[in-house]
Amino acid sequence: MAFTYDDSNIFARILRGEIPNDTVAENDHALAFRDIQPKAPRHVLVIPKGRYVSFDDFATNAPEAEIAGFMRLCAQVCTLEGIGLEQGEGFRAITNAGPHGVQEVPHFHLHIMGGRVMGPMIG
Ligand code: 5GP
Repeated sequence: MAFTYDDSNIFARILRGEIPNDTVAENDHALAFRDIQPKAPRHVLVIPKGRYVSFDDFATNAPEAEIAGFMRLCAQVCTLEGIGLEQGEGFRAITNAGPHGVQEVPHFHLHIMGGRVMGPMIG
């Protein structure tokens, strides 16, 4: 499956400032904001600022500085939300990719969820 990026996707529009978002943290390479339909008391989406469709597109094609910036922002979100293991009870980080992953928005994003015990990883 080709990594064909569509600039009209909702997260591209958020990055362009066309749609408001509830920002949690940001750096040069990534943006973290609250999911509009949270599935946990803490539910933050972290997206790279570059044009990547999915995790495999990002991990394959992003420059290492961008990957590092993205990962550091993910860690910062866990700290800011109080769910990192330094100070909290933990979290779940997942990404959905493509039709079998039931990916809704075709701009790579990591879901970071916490604030409750997560259910089993089925379905
Ligand atoms: P996916 O199924 O692609 O992994 O998840 C997409 C996520 O984006 C869903 O959890 C959905 O609630 C969230 N989402 C969709 N549209 C918007 C939006 O306009 N703003 C925000 N903050 N989240 C959105």
